[in-house]
Amino acid sequence: MSELEAMSVLAPRRKTRPIWVGSVQIGGDAPIAVQSMTNTDTADVQSTLRQIQELAELGCDIVRVAVPDRAAAEALPELVRRSPVPLIADIHFDHRLALASLRAGIHGLRLNPGNIRDPDKVREVVREAKERGVPIRVGVNEGSLPPLPPLEEGEMPPPKWKRMVDAALWEVQILEDLGFSDIKISLKSFDVPTMVTAYREMAKLVDYPFHLGVTEAGPPRSGAVRSAVGIGILLAEGIGDTIRVSLAADPKEEVPVAYDILKALNLRQRGATIVACPTCGRIEIDLIPLVNQVEAYFQKLGYPITVAVMGCVVNGPGEAREADIGIAGGKGKGAIFRKGEVVRVVPESQFLSALIEEGHKVIQERFGQAPPMATGTVSGLDEVIALTPVEGPGPGRVARRQQP
Ligand code: SF4
Repeated sequence: MSELEAMSVLAPRRKTRPIWVGSVQIGGDAPIAVQSMTNTDTADVQSTLRQIQELAELGCDIVRVAVPDRAAAEALPELVRRSPVPLIADIHFDHRLALASLRAGIHGLRLNPGNIRDPDKVREVVREAKERGVPIRVGVNEGSLPPLPPLEEGEMPPPKWKRMVDAALWEVQILEDLGFSDIKISLKSFDVPTMVTAYREMAKLVDYPFHLGVTEAGPPRSGAVRSAVGIGILLAEGIGDTIRVSLAADPKEEVPVAYDILKALNLRQRGATIVACPTCGRIEIDLIPLVNQVEAYFQKLGYPITVAVMGCVVNGPGEAREADIGIAGGKGKGAIFRKGEVVRVVPESQFLSALIEEGHKVIQERFGQAPPMATGTVSGLDEVIALTPVEGPGPGRVARRQQP
């Protein structure tokens, strides 16, 4: 299926009013932004900055930091000053921490309407945010909803998705009453049908951009799948302006999963897309180590090209004809192909270096520039990788503006 045909299965993007989190636009016609969250002690500036830097290098557009206490709030001015990407302060319960974060120059706030229930306190935060031009995410989480009012006898409690939508609307109303519209909304649940319904229903009611996520999605494998299903359903319906994949893992693992979701829907490219055959009885090479090496090299290179690694010459080039370049391994030798056409045959010792060479030619042709050529063999590759740029200049970067 061509890219255009694939695009046509997606619903048109929901029209949302754009907001700016620091230099990053969310909503409107901006690309879907990728977010993650640090898990260091925010008050530990060095460790938190290191993690922010690592996430930024992976392509994370915005990073959220927890602000659970005054010590964390006091670290924010330095974090904001030194962070390469905009930062969002995650606030629960204590509105004074939101005020302190704003005064520290934070680029965005996340408030949970389930746990700052006093409208006067919310108003105080909103006034300060408005004065500073800082957006607020109304971040509803199914696990921390406001308490239900007492039910009449025989009355059924409303479904979870409805309680989530109502909680968000309660806070949105307070914000709107103060003339505040720099709003983003999230309605997260572990349960995919619940979160999908909540976002769908909210999409009928407001035009604010949405931050999508499946909360506490789980360990890396099942969490990635759960996130991909929940976020993917909504993105395919045109709903969603920024995403966060929540994994019980190092936050660095969240960012590639987020990009894989966006790549799978042709919504945003970052780095190479690797095609690899699942292998079968026709396999003639030790495919998996080669796939890992190819992925490590081309991901690090950062250019948005598609690279295939296929297990046999008979079917490989044809099965991966959409790929820009690929290798189809055979006994002792393999075919390098471009868009399904074999361009050269190389001995096994040159599988990787020949593929890299051909990849650099494709990059040169398409982008008018290529990083320094790898000289190498597999054994020398690590050093070569370390020299290559982190991200190429290809399409799909998030819209940025100069910091005010
Ligand atoms: S490319 Fe060859 S080895 Fe791989 S799945 Fe297809 S037929 Fe099997």
